Amino acid sequence: MIDYTDHVHRLMADIVSRVPALSHVDVSRVLVFARPGRTGAHGPYATCHSLLVPDSEPAYYYWRDPRTGAMAKRSEWFVVRSPEVRIGPRRIWHLVSVALPRFCDQTAADTHKERVYGRGREWLAKLDTIVHELYHVDPHEGGIRRGSNGDGRLSALTHTPQFFREVQGIVRAYLASGPDSSVVEFLSFDFDALTRRYGGVVGTVFRGYPAFPQRYRHRLKVQPRAPRAAQIVLVPSQPARRVFTEADLEKRQFLRGSTLRLGDWGQVQ
Ligand SMILES: [Zn+2]
Repeated sequence: MIDYTDHVHRLMADIVSRVPALSHVDVSRVLVFARPGRTGAHGPYATCHSLLVPDSEPAYYYWRDPRTGAMAKRSEWFVVRSPEVRIGPRRIWHLVSVALPRFCDQTAADTHKERVYGRGREWLAKLDTIVHELYHVDPHEGGIRRGSNGDGRLSALTHTPQFFREVQGIVRAYLASGPDSSVVEFLSFDFDALTRRYGGVVGTVFRGYPAFPQRYRHRLKVQPRAPRAAQIVLVPSQPARRVFTEADLEKRQFLRGSTLRLGDWGQVQ
Protein backbone atom coordinates (compact mmCIF):
# COMPACT_ATOMS: atom_id res chain seq x y z
CA MET A 1 0.00 0.00 0.00
CA ILE A 2 1.09 3.59 -0.47
CA ASP A 3 1.81 5.64 2.64
CA TYR A 4 0.33 8.94 1.53
CA THR A 5 1.41 11.11 4.46
CA ASP A 6 4.99 9.82 4.14
CA HIS A 7 4.95 10.63 0.42
CA VAL A 8 3.73 14.17 1.14
CA HIS A 9 6.49 14.62 3.74
CA ARG A 10 9.16 13.31 1.35
CA LEU A 11 7.94 15.73 -1.32
CA MET A 12 8.06 18.61 1.19
CA ALA A 13 11.68 17.77 2.02
CA ASP A 14 12.52 17.81 -1.69
CA ILE A 15 10.75 21.15 -2.26
CA VAL A 16 12.49 22.98 0.61
CA SER A 17 15.87 21.59 -0.48
CA ARG A 18 15.39 22.95 -4.03
CA VAL A 19 13.55 26.25 -3.60
CA PRO A 20 15.37 29.02 -1.67
CA ALA A 21 12.07 30.79 -0.85
CA LEU A 22 11.23 27.84 1.45
CA SER A 23 14.72 27.04 2.74
CA HIS A 24 13.71 28.34 6.20
CA VAL A 25 11.35 25.39 6.67
CA ASP A 26 12.87 22.58 8.76
CA VAL A 27 10.78 19.61 7.61
CA SER A 28 12.11 17.44 10.44
CA ARG A 29 9.90 19.66 12.60
CA VAL A 30 6.84 19.25 10.37
CA LEU A 31 4.54 16.29 11.00
CA VAL A 32 2.11 15.32 8.23
CA PHE A 33 -1.04 13.49 9.32
CA ALA A 34 -4.32 12.53 7.67
CA ARG A 35 -7.82 13.73 8.48
CA PRO A 36 -11.09 12.49 7.00
CA GLY A 37 -12.36 14.49 4.03
CA ARG A 38 -14.96 13.28 1.56
CA THR A 39 -14.44 13.88 -2.14
CA GLY A 40 -16.71 16.61 -3.41
CA ALA A 41 -17.63 17.79 0.10
CA HIS A 42 -16.84 21.34 1.09
CA GLY A 43 -13.65 21.85 3.09
CA PRO A 44 -9.90 22.32 2.79
CA TYR A 45 -7.63 19.83 1.03
CA ALA A 46 -4.93 20.40 3.64
CA THR A 47 -4.27 22.66 6.63
CA CYS A 48 -1.15 23.99 8.34
CA HIS A 49 -1.41 24.09 12.15
CA SER A 50 1.34 25.94 14.02
CA LEU A 51 2.36 24.63 17.43
CA LEU A 52 4.43 27.78 18.04
CA VAL A 53 1.55 30.24 18.37
CA PRO A 54 2.14 31.98 21.73
CA ASP A 55 -0.39 31.98 24.58
CA SER A 56 -3.39 34.22 23.97
CA GLU A 57 -4.11 37.26 26.13
CA PRO A 58 -5.95 36.29 29.36
CA ALA A 59 -9.69 36.05 28.73
CA TYR A 60 -12.98 34.66 30.05
CA TYR A 61 -16.32 33.95 28.47
CA TYR A 62 -19.63 35.06 29.88
CA TRP A 63 -23.42 34.96 29.61
CA ARG A 64 -25.76 37.92 30.01
CA ASP A 65 -29.21 37.91 31.53
CA PRO A 66 -31.43 38.45 28.47
CA ARG A 67 -33.83 40.71 30.38
CA THR A 68 -31.49 42.93 32.39
CA GLY A 69 -28.38 42.70 30.19
CA ALA A 70 -26.26 42.17 33.31
CA MET A 71 -23.53 39.54 33.40
CA ALA A 72 -25.27 36.47 34.83
CA LYS A 73 -22.25 34.18 34.86
CA ARG A 74 -18.75 34.03 33.54
CA SER A 75 -15.94 31.51 33.31
CA GLU A 76 -12.70 31.68 35.24
CA TRP A 77 -9.86 33.54 33.49
CA PHE A 78 -7.78 31.46 31.10
CA VAL A 79 -5.24 31.71 28.31
CA VAL A 80 -5.41 29.67 25.08
CA ARG A 81 -2.25 27.64 24.67
CA SER A 82 -0.68 25.44 21.96
CA PRO A 83 -0.24 21.72 22.64
CA GLU A 84 3.22 20.18 22.42
CA VAL A 85 4.08 17.38 19.98
CA ARG A 86 7.40 15.52 20.14
CA ILE A 87 8.80 12.78 17.92
CA GLY A 88 11.66 11.25 19.88
CA PRO A 89 13.74 14.14 21.22
CA ARG A 90 12.58 16.55 18.52
CA ARG A 91 9.83 19.08 19.12
CA ILE A 92 7.43 19.47 16.20
CA TRP A 93 6.72 23.06 15.16
CA HIS A 94 4.00 22.57 12.55
CA LEU A 95 1.38 19.95 11.83
CA VAL A 96 0.12 19.66 8.27
CA SER A 97 -3.12 17.72 7.91
CA VAL A 98 -4.16 16.22 4.58
CA ALA A 99 -7.85 15.42 3.99
CA LEU A 100 -8.25 11.90 2.57
CA PRO A 101 -9.54 10.91 0.10
CA ARG A 102 -10.44 14.51 -0.88
CA PHE A 103 -6.83 15.65 -1.37
CA CYS A 104 -6.12 12.79 -3.82
CA ASP A 105 -9.25 13.62 -5.81
CA GLN A 106 -8.58 17.35 -6.08
CA THR A 107 -9.64 18.66 -9.46
CA ALA A 108 -8.58 21.97 -10.93
CA ALA A 109 -11.70 22.32 -13.08
CA ASP A 110 -13.46 25.68 -12.74
CA THR A 111 -11.01 26.99 -10.14
CA HIS A 112 -8.29 29.61 -10.28
CA LYS A 113 -5.83 26.71 -10.45
CA GLU A 114 -7.15 25.67 -13.86
CA ARG A 115 -6.46 29.17 -15.14
CA VAL A 116 -2.99 29.14 -13.59
CA TYR A 117 -1.80 25.64 -14.42
CA GLY A 118 -4.00 24.62 -17.35
CA ARG A 119 -6.83 22.17 -17.83
CA GLY A 120 -6.37 18.60 -16.68
CA ARG A 121 -3.21 19.26 -14.68
CA GLU A 122 -4.62 18.06 -11.37
CA TRP A 123 -1.23 17.01 -10.07
CA LEU A 124 -0.06 20.65 -10.23
CA ALA A 125 -3.12 21.71 -8.23
CA LYS A 126 -2.07 19.19 -5.54
CA LEU A 127 1.53 20.39 -5.65
CA ASP A 128 0.21 23.95 -5.25
CA THR A 129 -1.68 22.87 -2.10
CA ILE A 130 1.47 21.33 -0.58
CA VAL A 131 3.57 24.42 -1.37
CA HIS A 132 0.71 26.57 0.01
CA GLU A 133 0.87 24.80 3.40
CA LEU A 134 4.68 25.10 3.54
CA TYR A 135 4.42 28.78 2.63
CA HIS A 136 2.27 29.32 5.73
CA VAL A 137 5.37 28.63 7.87
CA ASP A 138 6.59 32.04 9.02
CA PRO A 139 10.26 32.65 8.09
CA HIS A 140 10.96 34.79 11.18
CA GLU A 141 8.84 33.69 14.11
CA GLY A 142 8.23 30.13 13.00
CA GLY A 143 4.47 30.48 13.50
CA ILE A 144 2.03 31.24 10.71
CA ARG A 145 3.14 33.79 8.10
CA ARG A 146 1.28 37.08 8.20
CA GLY A 147 -0.19 38.07 4.86
CA SER A 148 1.25 41.07 3.09
CA ASN A 149 -0.18 43.34 0.45
CA GLY A 150 1.59 44.03 -2.81
CA ASP A 151 3.14 47.17 -1.30
CA GLY A 152 4.81 45.24 1.51
CA ARG A 153 2.39 46.31 4.26
CA LEU A 154 1.13 43.54 6.53
CA SER A 155 -2.44 42.49 5.85
CA ALA A 156 -5.04 41.28 8.32
CA LEU A 157 -5.72 38.44 5.89
CA THR A 158 -3.53 35.35 5.66
CA HIS A 159 -4.56 34.56 2.09
CA THR A 160 -3.84 37.71 0.10
CA PRO A 161 -3.65 37.69 -3.71
CA GLN A 162 0.10 38.09 -3.28
CA PHE A 163 0.19 34.91 -1.15
CA PHE A 164 -1.35 32.89 -4.00
CA ARG A 165 1.00 34.45 -6.59
CA GLU A 166 4.06 33.66 -4.48
CA VAL A 167 2.90 30.05 -4.03
CA GLN A 168 2.53 29.76 -7.82
CA GLY A 169 6.02 31.18 -8.26
CA ILE A 170 7.43 28.56 -5.89
CA VAL A 171 5.59 25.77 -7.74
CA ARG A 172 7.20 26.96 -11.01
CA ALA A 173 10.64 27.30 -9.40
CA TYR A 174 10.36 23.75 -8.05
CA LEU A 175 9.36 22.34 -11.45
CA ALA A 176 12.21 24.26 -13.12
CA SER A 177 14.66 22.65 -10.67
CA GLY A 178 14.00 19.27 -12.33
CA PRO A 179 12.62 17.17 -9.45
CA ASP A 180 12.88 13.39 -9.69
CA SER A 181 9.65 11.98 -11.10
CA SER A 182 9.60 9.30 -8.37
CA VAL A 183 9.08 12.05 -5.77
CA VAL A 184 6.10 13.73 -7.47
CA GLU A 185 4.56 10.82 -9.38
CA PHE A 186 2.05 9.92 -6.62
CA LEU A 187 0.29 13.27 -7.18
CA SER A 188 -0.84 12.19 -10.64
CA PHE A 189 -3.17 9.46 -9.32
CA ASP A 190 -6.60 10.01 -7.79
CA PHE A 191 -7.79 7.91 -4.87
CA ASP A 192 -9.22 5.06 -6.95
CA ALA A 193 -6.12 4.91 -9.16
CA LEU A 194 -3.86 4.80 -6.09
CA THR A 195 -5.95 2.00 -4.60
CA ARG A 196 -5.74 -0.01 -7.83
CA ARG A 197 -2.02 0.62 -8.25
CA TYR A 198 -0.83 0.10 -4.67
CA GLY A 199 -3.60 -1.98 -3.12
CA GLY A 200 -4.57 0.73 -0.68
CA VAL A 201 -3.89 4.18 0.75
CA VAL A 202 -2.39 4.48 4.24
CA GLY A 203 -1.76 7.53 6.41
CA THR A 204 -0.40 8.59 9.79
CA VAL A 205 -3.13 9.69 12.21
CA PHE A 206 -3.35 10.53 15.89
CA ARG A 207 -4.91 8.03 18.26
CA GLY A 208 -8.50 8.94 18.90
CA TYR A 209 -8.83 9.61 15.16
CA PRO A 210 -10.18 11.89 13.81
CA ALA A 211 -9.16 13.99 16.85
CA PHE A 212 -5.74 15.67 16.77
CA PRO A 213 -3.82 18.10 19.02
CA GLN A 214 -5.50 21.48 19.15
CA ARG A 215 -5.11 24.67 21.15
CA TYR A 216 -6.71 24.44 24.59
CA ARG A 217 -7.83 26.68 27.46
CA HIS A 218 -5.40 26.84 30.35
CA ARG A 219 -6.78 28.17 33.65
CA LEU A 220 -4.84 31.11 35.16
CA LYS A 221 -3.36 30.11 38.51
CA VAL A 222 -4.01 33.56 39.99
CA GLN A 223 -7.64 34.43 39.24
CA PRO A 224 -8.55 38.14 39.00
CA ARG A 225 -11.71 38.84 41.02
CA ALA A 226 -13.22 41.07 38.39
CA PRO A 227 -15.61 41.23 36.77
CA ARG A 228 -18.14 40.27 39.41
CA ALA A 229 -20.79 37.73 38.39
CA ALA A 230 -23.38 35.72 40.28
CA GLN A 231 -21.82 32.48 39.10
CA ILE A 232 -18.25 31.58 38.06
CA VAL A 233 -17.87 28.55 35.77
CA LEU A 234 -14.71 26.48 36.30
CA VAL A 235 -12.15 25.95 33.55
CA PRO A 236 -10.51 22.51 33.91
CA SER A 237 -7.02 23.19 35.24
CA GLN A 238 -5.53 20.30 33.26
CA PRO A 239 -6.90 19.49 29.82
CA ALA A 240 -7.03 15.83 28.85
CA ARG A 241 -3.84 16.00 26.76
CA ARG A 242 -1.20 18.69 26.43
CA VAL A 243 1.83 16.69 25.24
CA PHE A 244 1.75 14.19 22.38
CA THR A 245 4.54 11.87 21.24
CA GLU A 246 5.08 9.18 18.61
CA ALA A 247 3.23 6.82 20.99
CA ASP A 248 0.10 8.82 20.10
CA LEU A 249 0.44 8.09 16.38
CA GLU A 250 -0.91 5.17 14.42
CA LYS A 251 -1.38 4.12 10.82
CA ARG A 252 -4.78 3.77 9.21
CA GLN A 253 -5.85 2.57 5.81
CA PHE A 254 -8.24 5.02 4.15
CA LEU A 255 -11.26 3.72 2.28
CA ARG A 256 -14.06 5.78 0.84
CA GLY A 257 -16.12 6.74 3.88
CA SER A 258 -14.22 4.71 6.51
CA THR A 259 -10.78 3.77 7.81
CA LEU A 260 -9.11 0.63 9.15
CA ARG A 261 -6.60 0.79 11.98
CA LEU A 262 -3.41 -1.01 10.87
CA GLY A 263 -1.23 -0.62 13.95
CA ASP A 264 1.11 1.63 15.85
CA TRP A 265 3.07 4.26 13.96
CA GLY A 266 6.47 2.63 14.51
CA GLN A 267 5.34 -0.90 13.67
CA VAL A 268 3.80 -0.18 10.30
CA GLN A 269 6.54 2.14 9.05
ZN1 LIG B 1 -3.87 28.47 3.60
